[in-house]
Amino acid sequence: MRQLPSVLIVEDEPAIAELIAVNLRHNGFQPTWAMDSASAQRELDAVLPDVILLDWMLPGESGLALARRWRANARTKAVPIIMLTARGDETDRVAGLDAGADDYIVKPFSTKELLARVRAVLRRRAPEQVGGLVAVGALSLDSSTYRVVFNEQTLKLGPTEFKLLHYLMTHAERVHSRSQLLDKVWGDHVFIEERTVDVHVKRLREALGADAGQMIETVRGAGYRLTAHTAQAAPSTVVIPDSIRDPVPRQPWIADRGPQ
Ligand code: CA
Repeated sequence: MRQLPSVLIVEDEPAIAELIAVNLRHNGFQPTWAMDSASAQRELDAVLPDVILLDWMLPGESGLALARRWRANARTKAVPIIMLTARGDETDRVAGLDAGADDYIVKPFSTKELLARVRAVLRRRAPEQVGGLVAVGALSLDSSTYRVVFNEQTLKLGPTEFKLLHYLMTHAERVHSRSQLLDKVWGDHVFIEERTVDVHVKRLREALGADAGQMIETVRGAGYRLTAHTAQAAPSTVVIPDSIRDPVPRQPWIADRGPQ
């Protein structure tokens, strides 16, 4: 079954939220509504949406502060944000974009425009949702159904791992440096540290399991590669130069004594 793109609406005015939700639902999206910053945070902690529609003026924490916080957080920084705002002047628009919003819509807006902008950020930020089936070896990924299958077994992947795998599979057998992966998978969020890539590669390998996980190779000093030709049971030999060898002979039996 095709998974509908989910949209989190953060809006304190029920009439506007309802209008947006109805239109999204009728156009193949799955909307969720949060009426303040606290419930928006709860929604986001529970599940990451594909897009966030974020009202600027909220009771308590403003939409602008929320956007900044979500952009600074490793888990939420890649979720596209469209700001909804009654403020139309240029400094406000710039402040919204500076806070990390991908786009903004000035109230009152047409629902057609809103839908067009939601689709546009989805296209820009998640191009894999537009594509089709890609296969490398026994591993296949279908971006229209969001499914990853290895040896006829469906695997569960998080959104970032899915994007990362999609990129590696569509550029298989090539080595990609961490900064290239950041650029291609995470896009314009250049302030993400390179070790974030390592964390997601680790998660991706875990999600793929022992066999498919081997397809993602670490190329020392260069980056990562996805390959159909895994080196089965061939652990690389690590040669330790004499200069850094421990001069004291190891006494492994000491470790066996346990706490005393
Ligand atoms: Ca409001």
